Amino acid sequence: MTEAAPQQRRRSVAVDVGGVIVGGDAPVVVQSMTNTDTADVEETARQVAALARAGSEIVRITVDRDEAAAAVPRIKERLAKMGVSVPIVGDFHYIGHKLLADHPACAEALDKYRINPGNVGFKDKKDRQFGAIVETAIRHGKPVRIGANWGSLDQELLTRLMDENARSPNPRDAREVTREAMVQSALLSAARAEEIGLSRDRIILSAKVSAVQDLIAVYGELARRSDYALHLGLTEAGMGSKGIVASAASLSILLQQGIGDTIRISLTPEPGGDRTLEVKVAQELLQTMGFRVFVPLVAACPGCGRTTSTTFQELARDIQGFIHASMPEWKRRYPGVESLNVAVMGCIVNGPGESKHADIGISLPGTGEQPAAPVFVDGKKVATLRGATVAADFKQMVIDYIERRFGEPGAGRTAAE
Ligand code: SF4
Repeated sequence: MTEAAPQQRRRSVAVDVGGVIVGGDAPVVVQSMTNTDTADVEETARQVAALARAGSEIVRITVDRDEAAAAVPRIKERLAKMGVSVPIVGDFHYIGHKLLADHPACAEALDKYRINPGNVGFKDKKDRQFGAIVETAIRHGKPVRIGANWGSLDQELLTRLMDENARSPNPRDAREVTREAMVQSALLSAARAEEIGLSRDRIILSAKVSAVQDLIAVYGELARRSDYALHLGLTEAGMGSKGIVASAASLSILLQQGIGDTIRISLTPEPGGDRTLEVKVAQELLQTMGFRVFVPLVAACPGCGRTTSTTFQELARDIQGFIHASMPEWKRRYPGVESLNVAVMGCIVNGPGESKHADIGISLPGTGEQPAAPVFVDGKKVATLRGATVAADFKQMVIDYIERRFGEPGAGRTAAE
C-alpha cells in the first residue's frame, strides 16, 4: 500500500508581512483575530499577546472607527513593551480609505491591510475608495489582503454574472454563479490593485465562504487561475466541535491539494471562552497533517470497556497538560522538543504496539490485566511501573527522556528543576 502524501505545494508569490513570509517556500503560517474593541488599547494588546504566545504568527485586529485607528500605534507600542513583535493586520470595512487617510500613524503601524472588495464602497465610489487604500499601501510599503466574503459579496458583480447566466443557452446553477462571483471578485480586485501599482508580492487573496464544499470549489479555482498567496479560512465556522470539524474538513482537503499559504480557524468562542483555541486548532491541524511541528503530540487511545478505571484518562490529560504548560520553557532549553511523540494507552490490545511507535509510551493495565504498566522508549521496553505513583513516575521518565535527547550536552539539569 502506498502512503498518501500531500500534492506538491502550489507555487505562489511570497509576501512579507512584517517579517513573516506568507507563500513561496515558507511553511503555512498560522494567524488569528482578536475580538476586543480595538479602541481599548490595554485589552487588545493583552489579547494580541495571548494569541501570539499561543503561536499565532500574524494577528488581525478590527479597525472600524477613528478611536480604533488612533489606538493602533499605541497597541503596537504596548506590545513592544511586553516583548511581543507579532505582525498586526488591520481589518477595514466601508471606511478604510478614510481611516487610513486620517490616521497616517495607524497606516504606518500596521503590517498589512485587509480589505473586502464587497464593501469598500458602491458604484463610482468603489473604485476611488479601493484605489485610495491601495495607494496608501504603496506609500507605506505594506501588503494588502483582498478578502472576498460570501456574506458581503460584491452585489454589482454578482448581479452582472447572474444576468449573463440567465441569458446563456446553458445556464448554470445559481450557486455555481455565486462561486464564480467570489473568485472574480478577488481576482478582478487584485488585477485592479496591480494596475494602480501594488506589486504581486504585496497581495494576498482570500475568498471565505461558510459551506465546506463551496470553500473547496472556490479556492480550487483561485489556485488554478492565479499565483497570488492564498489565505484559507472557513468563515462563520461556528462554535465548539462543529466549527472545528467544518474548518478542519475543508482546510485539510485544500492543504492536501497543495493549496493555502496561511490559515485562520474562525471559531466562535463560548461566552468568556479562550480566544487562543483557534490558534491551537490551526496548529494541531497543520501538525496532524504533517505540514508543521509545533508541540509534542500525545497519542492516546479512546478507551473502551477494557478501561474501567479513570487512571488512563487522567494520565493522558495530565501528560498533555504538563507538556503544554512546559513548552515555553522547553522550547528555549530543548531545541527540537516539539517533534516528541508520547503515547498513553489503555490496555494490552493496542497499548504495547502503539507505545513502541512513540518516542516514549506507556500501556496501562486494562480490566483483568496484571496491575503493571510497561514503558517503551524508542521502541524498547525499559521499565514496568506499578502502584499509586505510576503517573508521577511516567512523567519523570518523559522529563528524563527530553533532557537526554534534546538537552544541551553537559547542561545537567532537568525540566523539573
Ligand atoms: S487500547 Fe485497549 S483500552 Fe484502548 S481502546 Fe484499544 S482495547 Fe480499549
